[in-house]
Amino acid sequence: MTTPITDRVRDTLATLPDHVRLVAAAKTRSPDEIRAALAGGVRIIGMNYVKEAAAAIDQLGRETAEWHMIGHLQRNKVREAIRLCDLIQTVDSMRLAERIDTEARNCGLVMPVLVEVNSAQEPQKAGVAPDDVIPILREMAGLRAIRVEGLMTMGPLTPDAEAIRPYFRLTKALFDEAVNLAIEGVRMATLSMGMSDSYAVAIEEGSTMVRMGTILFGPRTR
Ligand SMILES: *Cc1c(COP(=O)(O)O)cnc(C)c1O
Repeated sequence: MTTPITDRVRDTLATLPDHVRLVAAAKTRSPDEIRAALAGGVRIIGMNYVKEAAAAIDQLGRETAEWHMIGHLQRNKVREAIRLCDLIQTVDSMRLAERIDTEARNCGLVMPVLVEVNSAQEPQKAGVAPDDVIPILREMAGLRAIRVEGLMTMGPLTPDAEAIRPYFRLTKALFDEAVNLAIEGVRMATLSMGMSDSYAVAIEEGSTMVRMGTILFGPRTR
C-alpha cells in the first residue's frame, strides 16, 4: 500500500546525501502514520514524549525502527526512556546525565546520548549554553554508563532557514572542537540538526542527522 506519507519519505530520502540520516519526527502521529513512514524506508523514529513513545512501540514493535528521544526528557521518565529508546538526543545538564548513567547501570547497559546545545542562547529553550559544551562533555566522559555520541541543536524557531544558519555553524564548530580534543570516552559521530524548513541549510553546515516531521507527515492537526 502506498500512501502520501510513504511517498514523501521515499522522496525525501532520495534527496539526502548518503552521510545524512533521517529521523521521522513523529509527535502526535498515529501508529498507522508511523507505519506508512517506515514503509517509505525511514529507519529512525523520533519521539518527543516517553508516553507517546511507549504507545507507538507497543503498537509497532521495538524492532521495527530505531527509536530516538528528541523531546525534553524529565528525570522521572529516564528509566522508561532508557528501556524504550536507542538514543536520547536531548541531554542538557549533568543532573540529567547522572540520572541516565545511574539508571543505565542498573539496567546493565550503556546508553548512547547526544548533548543538546542551546545554540541561540534562548532563555526559554533547553540545551547547554555554547560556552559550557566542551566542559560538560569532559564531565560526561567520566560517566561509564553513558556514551556521548554527538551534539544536537534546534536553533531559533523561524521558517527563515538563513536566519538559523549561524547557529548551525556554531554548533558544527563546537562539534569539530570536540572531535579535535578527542576526549576519552566521548565519541563524536552524530551532529543532529535541521528540520523540515531548515534541513538543506543544516546539511550545508555539516549536519549528519536531520529530524523532519511536517515534510513527511503533513501539517500537524493536533
Ligand atoms: C517536531 C520536531 C522536529 C520536526 O519539526 P518539523 O518542522 O515538523 O520538521 C524536529 N525536532 C524536534 C525536537 C521536534 O520536536
